[in-house]
Amino acid sequence: MTASIISGKELAQEKRRQLAEEVKGLKEQGITPGLTIILVGDNPASLSYIKGKQKASEEIGVAFKLEHFSEKMTEEELLNVIETYNEDDSCHGILVQLPLPEHISEKAVIEKISPEKDVDGFHPLNVGQMMVGQDTFLPCTPAGIVEMIKSAGIEISGKHVVVVGRSNIVGKPAGILLLNEHATVTYCHSRTPNLKEMTRQADILIAAVGKANFITGDHLKEGAAVIDVGVNRLDTGKLCGDVVFEDAMNKASHITPVPGGVGPMTITMLAHNVVKSAKKSAVNQPSK
Ligand code: NDP
Repeated sequence: MTASIISGKELAQEKRRQLAEEVKGLKEQGITPGLTIILVGDNPASLSYIKGKQKASEEIGVAFKLEHFSEKMTEEELLNVIETYNEDDSCHGILVQLPLPEHISEKAVIEKISPEKDVDGFHPLNVGQMMVGQDTFLPCTPAGIVEMIKSAGIEISGKHVVVVGRSNIVGKPAGILLLNEHATVTYCHSRTPNLKEMTRQADILIAAVGKANFITGDHLKEGAAVIDVGVNRLDTGKLCGDVVFEDAMNKASHITPVPGGVGPMTITMLAHNVVKSAKKSAVNQPSK
């Protein structure tokens, strides 16, 4: 079997075209969707992710603003900056780039962002709404994963999804979204014994571990769809996923590449959330 490649890059391009049209419509109503990203410190990976988010925003017509502060910034100062944007009507989405310096509480920061502008979908209120299947801002990577699976015409309902990884930003919400799509979901993590026995049962395998080439052909059921979320930098400088790509090509029905898979869709779903927020503000705008 030779797997089909699900190109996140192509799907992202298509979705960005649609979003650009929606932004055009909003601008005609006098609303320019605005995204503010707040970065504390100079983490090179964070800077690189932000560049991607800026590029996508500009491509779609979202007004992008970066607030970049020294890593010496205090938690109180950061909370005050968030408050300013919570109250700024031209800002529809606030994203505080993680990780934060150790002296700043991630929990306090996430909870400070207005749930109505929480385009990362990390605020507990939005997480709760996602959990019960209500309309809300969905976390970008898991939402992108679901879009990719659907775009390839892969049936989710009734299928066995095995998620390897249970982080609050990727593994756990990915499983919840797929459960909401009527899959049977199994979570695996570092304490799971006999991992291969679990993953070999997967019709759809989500690999969100963060270890290069961790999932091999032995972990896969013949014909499984494999979503590789991992982004790992090898000593050579090359990026690779959690899945041995060649093994998946030989055994799976579908595989997402790294790079060019989940990454571009994550960024696109962020833009989707900003546009969604701006549309809500358009509905709530008092008529003149
Ligand atoms: P975390 O480090 O927060 O979580 C990793 C998960 O993998 C944990 O749940 C951990 O288990 C589990 N794990 C670690 N070792 C094993 C093992 N030997 N067997 C089974 N499970 C194991 O990472 P994230 O969820 O934040 O990210 C995962 C990957 O996805 C990373 O490579 C990251 O770079 C990438 N990523 C990609 C994005 C994209 O847009 N493409 C966006 C976000 C992340 P335990 O909980 O027990 O410790």
